[in-house]
Amino acid sequence: MKLVYDERFTDSGYADNNAALPGRMEAAMSGFGRGYRDFVAPASATVNELLLAHDKAYIERIETDRARFAMASLAAGGAILAAQLAYSGEPTFACIRPPGHHASRASAWGHCTFNNLALALLVLRSQKRIGSAFVIDIDQHTGDGTRKVLATWPEAETFNPFAESARDYLVLVEQHLSSIPETDIVAVSAGFDAYRLDLGHKLDTGDFERIGKLVRRAAQRLCGGRRFAVLEGGYYLPDLGANVRAFCRGFA
Ligand SMILES: [Zn+2]
Repeated sequence: MKLVYDERFTDSGYADNNAALPGRMEAAMSGFGRGYRDFVAPASATVNELLLAHDKAYIERIETDRARFAMASLAAGGAILAAQLAYSGEPTFACIRPPGHHASRASAWGHCTFNNLALALLVLRSQKRIGSAFVIDIDQHTGDGTRKVLATWPEAETFNPFAESARDYLVLVEQHLSSIPETDIVAVSAGFDAYRLDLGHKLDTGDFERIGKLVRRAAQRLCGGRRFAVLEGGYYLPDLGANVRAFCRGFA
């Protein structure tokens, strides 16, 4: 499995919110062990790439905040790299921020700026590499932005599982994944705020591994294993690294 990451993501000065918390990226990466250096650093997304998912005026407005624009473009570039690696046969996790699933074409909320995951899929589609995509969003919050950005692409399905208990949640994920007839790539909005000590108070560390495994099996059945995941939420820093690592163990 490849890991997309860049030391520049540790700079927390681009925004003042929970996703930009100092130490959050270090925490997310901590499960891979000190000295883990087997990651691939992304290039920033270009404006032409951003235009696949966002309106020009919106991009120009973000550009006036240079620090935010730089970090968000790098995150988008990270997702694009993850999608390209996945397409070429390498399952990939992009450890990036700001998150993206609440970003629509001309607005964003919930600590997001550009819709990293939707952008990455739209880049692959613009290169005629994929015609369809399946997105599973396991963040505690619905990926409203992803739905909106991908709304004009009927062959892109987005799935936000919701259930009260972890047990029901896993059953729902398993049932839905096994019901998909076909897709060219599987993408995960990997938020970890449904964790039992985070906002959602639901999933355990082992549940993230189970979800990763279910997604891996679905991708292997549907599209030769082509899959990637991008970090979304996840704010309980003491266990974020263990949860990311658990998901990747199942996903790899
Ligand atoms: Zn969330």
